[in-house]
Amino acid sequence: MPQRWILHADMDAFYASVEQRERPELKGKPVIVGGASARGVVSAASYEARKFGVHSAMPGFRARQLCPEGVFLPGNMELYGEVSRAIRKVFEEFTPEIEPLALDEAFLDITGSAKLFGGPVALGEQLRDRVREATQLTVSAGIAPSKLVAKIACTFSKPDGLHWVQPDEVESFLRGLPIRRLWGVGPVLGEKLTAIGIQTLGDLARTPQAHLAVIVGEDRAADLQRLARGDDSRAVSVSRAPKSYGEENTFPSDVTELLDVTNALTTHAEAVARRMRHDNYRGRTITLKAKLGRRTGRRTPRVSGEQGDPVYPLVSRSRTLQVATSDGPTIRDVALALWREAKIGEPVRLLGVSVSKLERRDAEQLDLFGARNQTDALGDAMDAITDRYGKGAISRAVDGVEKATQSNSIKRGDK
Ligand SMILES: [Mg+2]
Repeated sequence: MPQRWILHADMDAFYASVEQRERPELKGKPVIVGGASARGVVSAASYEARKFGVHSAMPGFRARQLCPEGVFLPGNMELYGEVSRAIRKVFEEFTPEIEPLALDEAFLDITGSAKLFGGPVALGEQLRDRVREATQLTVSAGIAPSKLVAKIACTFSKPDGLHWVQPDEVESFLRGLPIRRLWGVGPVLGEKLTAIGIQTLGDLARTPQAHLAVIVGEDRAADLQRLARGDDSRAVSVSRAPKSYGEENTFPSDVTELLDVTNALTTHAEAVARRMRHDNYRGRTITLKAKLGRRTGRRTPRVSGEQGDPVYPLVSRSRTLQVATSDGPTIRDVALALWREAKIGEPVRLLGVSVSKLERRDAEQLDLFGARNQTDALGDAMDAITDRYGKGAISRAVDGVEKATQSNSIKRGDK
């Protein structure tokens, strides 16, 4: 097994740094993003603002007390999203194994690619240079044999630095750290542990497991001790971007009635929209697919002279919208329009709806400052009910489509 190397990359004071880049007159000034309104909360503070004790998640009024001369800005999520995509592109130059944690933060598994760049540290420094070149912003990096240690190492590298922890240094690196630095140790658990004399990760690792189990249970005790020793084998989980979302069904018997077609397209449109919203996507191209009931007379070729499956003519129509959508009724309306335009006029055995040309919804979703798209808000409200009470608890007024063929695989966006 080659030595595993994880790199945790985190932009320095991301939103505030983007603002300072956009408006050079703000360089060197305490810039505070968010917290502009009476009830707002700080979402980012420049290093100049941090000197006054301002930090993210702090109520805006408190930040104003601490730093009255601070420049308070409402934030521009669209711009941050754009910069985030540029950063992601740079990361992809170094490895395909990327797990984004936030707009400005990701784990990269560089086990396979480190050698190509002259080793893990050389890779890390080249990555930092490339991010600076591409965005005029600084990124810090932690490199270690595990996610846990890489993430903590990154905090030691800030701002604009790199911190490397080698396998034989992991234990000494962790030993002196306060227990709160461990994932999953919040204020409550932290206090309980402190009460029995556990202050550092070293203390935690040394405590007899039975003592610890009294407080957190046996499973958790074992987990915590493993992590405290730096034993963390969690993999970087790469989510590959989907190309499209689709739903289709084969009818028990071929359909001709417009009502059946409408019902099927509505159900598919809603399902596709729900899955896209769950994954935070929208799409611009809507495609209708219909398989006709009659056979072409051809059969699919098979090996060994066996008879192949019958082939049914396939009709497919697409339309690309100006604006991306994850709204069920919009998708249904386009699918129905495509159906009418296709003038099929004969029995159909299969209908499908898919949406492609996808884009991420996060930039907007993370937008604490602006109003959400209204149809999306309705969709999200329906999703909340479905999550709670199950599929079928709510649907827009149509009958569901019984699927004659159903796949057992879990589709993207379904839980
Ligand atoms: Mg950051």
